[in-house]
Amino acid sequence: GHSLLATRLVSTIRRELSLEIAIKDIFINPTISDLGIHLSSQSAASNTLPVIIAQEKSDRIPLSFSQERLWFIDQLQGSEAYHIFGKLLLKGAVNISILETALKTIIDRHEVLRTVIYSEEGVGYQNVITSDNWKLETNVLKSDQNIDEELSSYAQIPFDLANDYMVRARIYDLGADEYILAIVFHHISSDGWSESVFVREFVELYSAIQEDRGANLPELSLQYTDYALWQRAYLEGEILESQLAYWKDNLTGVTPLALPTDFTRPSIQNTEGYSVDFNLDKRLSDSIAKRCQEEGVTLFMFLLSAFKVLLSKYSGQDDICVGTPIANRTQSEVEGMIGFFVNTLALRTDVSNDLSFKEILNNVKQTTLSGYDNQLVPFEKVVDSVVGTRDMSISPLFQVLFVLQNIPENSEIELDGLTVSDYKHKEVTAQFDLTLTVDEKDSGIALNMGYRTTLFSETTIERMLGHYQELLQNIVENTNQEIGTISMLTQQEEGELFEVFNNTDIGYPKDQSIVDLIVAQSKKTPKAVALVYEGEKLTYKELNDQSNQLARYIQKKGVQTEDLVGICIDRSLEMVIGIVAILKAGGAYVPVDPTYPKERIQYILEDSKVSLVLSNSNSISALEIVEGLSIVQLDKDWESIRKESTRKLKQGPLPEHLAYVIYTSGSTGKPKGVLLTHLNVVRLFFNDGNLFDFNKKDVWTMFHSFCFDFSVWELYGALFYGGRLVIVPDVVTKDSNAYKNLLIEEGVTILNQTPGSFYSLQEEFLSNETDTQIRYVVFGGEALNPSYLERWKHRYPSCKLINMYGITETTVHVTYKEITEKEVLDTKSTIGAAIPTLNIYIVDDSLQLLPIGVIGELCVSGAGLARGYLNREELTQERFISNPFDNDPESRLYKTGDLGRWLPNGDIEFVGRKDSQVKIRGYRIELGEI
Ligand code: AMP
Ligand code: MG
Repeated sequence: GHSLLATRLVSTIRRELSLEIAIKDIFINPTISDLGIHLSSQSAASNTLPVIIAQEKSDRIPLSFSQERLWFIDQLQGSEAYHIFGKLLLKGAVNISILETALKTIIDRHEVLRTVIYSEEGVGYQNVITSDNWKLETNVLKSDQNIDEELSSYAQIPFDLANDYMVRARIYDLGADEYILAIVFHHISSDGWSESVFVREFVELYSAIQEDRGANLPELSLQYTDYALWQRAYLEGEILESQLAYWKDNLTGVTPLALPTDFTRPSIQNTEGYSVDFNLDKRLSDSIAKRCQEEGVTLFMFLLSAFKVLLSKYSGQDDICVGTPIANRTQSEVEGMIGFFVNTLALRTDVSNDLSFKEILNNVKQTTLSGYDNQLVPFEKVVDSVVGTRDMSISPLFQVLFVLQNIPENSEIELDGLTVSDYKHKEVTAQFDLTLTVDEKDSGIALNMGYRTTLFSETTIERMLGHYQELLQNIVENTNQEIGTISMLTQQEEGELFEVFNNTDIGYPKDQSIVDLIVAQSKKTPKAVALVYEGEKLTYKELNDQSNQLARYIQKKGVQTEDLVGICIDRSLEMVIGIVAILKAGGAYVPVDPTYPKERIQYILEDSKVSLVLSNSNSISALEIVEGLSIVQLDKDWESIRKESTRKLKQGPLPEHLAYVIYTSGSTGKPKGVLLTHLNVVRLFFNDGNLFDFNKKDVWTMFHSFCFDFSVWELYGALFYGGRLVIVPDVVTKDSNAYKNLLIEEGVTILNQTPGSFYSLQEEFLSNETDTQIRYVVFGGEALNPSYLERWKHRYPSCKLINMYGITETTVHVTYKEITEKEVLDTKSTIGAAIPTLNIYIVDDSLQLLPIGVIGELCVSGAGLARGYLNREELTQERFISNPFDNDPESRLYKTGDLGRWLPNGDIEFVGRKDSQVKIRGYRIELGEI
C-alpha cells in the first residue's frame, strides 16, 4: 500500500515543480505498462549496450550528459528554474528527530544527493561527500507570514553546486499539530521519478524508525556515478552518432507551432503559468480504451494523436511536433535510484487534413516507437545538432508537451499517529506554451492543461479542453474519418455561432432601386444642396433634372436595361450626374479612373466591352487607347443634352438589376469586374436593423475614387438621406492639411477613411486643437489599429469611431464595430460582427466551422453578395459557393480569402490574408500583379 500512496503523493508534488519540465517532468510517461508492446522490440542499438554495473571509482568521476548541461546553465545564468519542489502536509504528532533521521538516511543511501561538483579547467567532476552535516531546518510560522509565499521563497534559494547538498528540507510548524515538510531538490541530482523513490523511502524509514525495526528497503547496487561512467563509456561514438543522426533526419526543418494566442508573445519567454483540470467521463474513457485495443495502440499514442489533431486544427499547420518526457530507466537496477535520468523526446508527425485518424494514429505509433528506439541521446544534444540559432521567444524543437501518467488514486498515507498528504496549491509556472498531462483514473481520464499565462487566458484553455473532448468523441465513433472533416465544435458553440454571433436575418425593402430613393429624396428636399465641388453647387432638384436629361440622351444612344456604360471622368459635379443618369437609363456604370495607368484603363474597357463611355474634355485623352468607343463629353456635349426633357423617366431599373461593376484585384492576378445590384446597395442603408442615424443635416465627402467601393458608401450615404456631398478635389485627397481645412469649412459630419489616411489626418486636428463637427468616422479598406485612435477618442469623445470590414464582392461593408474608450487601449484589429442582412462564418480549409479563438477564413453570406464576376463564370463558382450553413438552396457563401477569428464576446478579430493580396491606400493589389 505505502508505495502506491507515495506515488500518488509525488504526482501532486510533481505539479508543483518550478522547473523545466523538458528534462524534469518525468516520472511518468511512457509508463512501463504503456510501453508494454514495445519492451519486446527494443532497438538493436540499446540491445547491444552493456548493462550498467558498479564501477571502480577514480577521484575524477565525470558528470552525466544532462548534469553537464545543467551545470553549464548554472554557471551561465543560475539555475533556480531547475529546483524541484515537493511539499507534504503532515497532521498529527510529528517526531522531528525521527523525521530528520529518515531524511538523512535517504541522503546517505543515495550518493547523488550528497554529491558536489568541482571544476577543473572548465570540466566538471562529481565529488561525493558524507551526509554528516546535513540538517533538517525548522521554522515556526509567525501569524503574519503567508505560508505559500514562504514556501515559494524557500524554493527559490539558489544551490551552490560546489558546496551544498543537492536536497534541502525545512519543516514549517503551522501550529495545532499541522506541519508542512518542504523538500527542494536540485534537478541535477533528481527528477520526478526520483521524487517518488524519495517519498517511498521516507514513509518506510519514518515508520520503521518509529516502530524500532529495520527498514524494508531494497539494497542499492548502483549509484548515479555508475550511470554517469557507463554513459561516458558507451554512449559516445557510434551509438550516439547513429541516434543523433536519426533525430537530425527527423527533426530538421520543423516549424514552430503557431497556436493562436490571446496575448502577444513576449520576445523572451518566462515561466509564468497556470493550469486547468478537465475530466473525460467514464463512458468516453472506456470507448477510447476499447478503440486502443482494436487499433493495437497504447493510450499514450491514441491521446497524443488526437492532441496533435487538435493542435493542427488550432494552428492550421499539418507538421506537428510535440515533446514528451521519457523516464529513461529501462534497466531494472536503475528503477530504485534517485538521480537525473529523465529525457525528452520530440515526436513529429504529419497531420494533414486529408489523412484519416487511423493513418495519423499509425504515424504517431511509428514516430513514438522509433523515438523510443533512439531515446538514449540527451535532448540537449539533439537540440544542439538540429537547431541553428535559438529563438528566445519559444522553446526549441517543440512548444507543447504531452505527458501520460498512471497514478493510483489514494491521496493520504496513515502512519502511526500521523497523516501524510500532499500540500495542494496550483502550479504557477509553465515551461511550455501548453503541457497536457493525462492521468488514467478509475473514474475516467483526467486531463490537466498547463499553459503560459503570458499567452493564454484561462477560458481559452478551458475551451480548448472542451474541443479536445469533442474531437475524441467524434474520433471514437469512427477512426476512418479524414481529420479535416472531424469537427471539434461543441453543439452549444455551434448554436452560439448561428444564433448569437450571427443574429442578422433581418428584413429590408425589396422593392426599391437606387434611382427610386434618389428621386424620392429630390421630391422631399428639392432645394437642398446635394453636391458641392470647388464652390459649385447642385441642388437635389438640379441633380434630378439634369440626370433625367442625360439618361434620356444616352437611352437614345442605345442604353438599355443592364447595359454596361463606362464613366471615365475626373472629379466634378458631372461625375455624379453621370452615375445617376446611367442608373436612371437602366444601365450599370463601370467607373474608370482617368488617372489610372493606360494598360489598366484599356483592360477594363475591353474586358467589360462597354461601347458607350461618359467623359469630359479633361479626361477624354485617357480613352484614346481604345478604339471605336462612343464617348459623351458631359461638358462639351451638354448643349445637346440639355435639350432633353427633365421629366421623370417612365421606367426605371428594378431593384435586382445591375447597378455598377467595380474592378478589383484578387487572388488570380488579373483585375475582374464585380457585378453589384441596386438591391445590394439599398439594403446596405435601409433595413430593419439600422446601425446609423444619418440624416439630411449630414455633410459627407466623396474622398475616394469612384473606382473604390468606399465611394459607393459616400455617394449614396449622402444622397439617400438628403445630406450634402462634398466632392473632394484630387489634390486635396493627397494633402491632409488641405483636407482638414475642407472638412472644417464645409462642416463635414460623416468622415470615411482608410486607417492609413486617417492617422495622418488626425495629426492635423490634434496638433492644432481644432474643433470638429465630425460625428462619425467610418474606417474601412484595411486593418485598423485601435490604439492609434486613443488621442482622437479622448479629444473628441462624442465622435463615434466605427470600424467596418468590407469587400467589393459583398457591397462595401460586412461588419460593424464601434471603437470605444475600451477598444482604443488595444492593438487588436477588431472588426465586430456582421451587419444586418449579412452573416459571417469562420471556417477551416475543409469548410468546418471554427470555434472562438481559432483562426480561419472569413466567409460571408446574405443580401450583400454580388452577382459574381463579369465574364468569369469559373472564378465566380469558386469564390461564391453554395452556402453549406443555410437550408435555403439559393443561399451562397463568398470566400473572402481574409483570415480572422471569433473573440469570446462575438466580435471578430481581423488577422490578415490567406494569399499575397496587399492593400495600398485601401486598394487591393495582388503582389504577382505588380
Ligand atoms: P476591397 O474589395 O477593395 O474593399 O478590399 C477588400 C479587402 O480589404 C478585404 O478582403 C480585406 O482584406 C481588406 N479590408 C477591408 N476592410 C477592412 C477592415 N476594416 N479591416 C481589415 N481589412 C479590411
Ligand atoms: Mg471595401
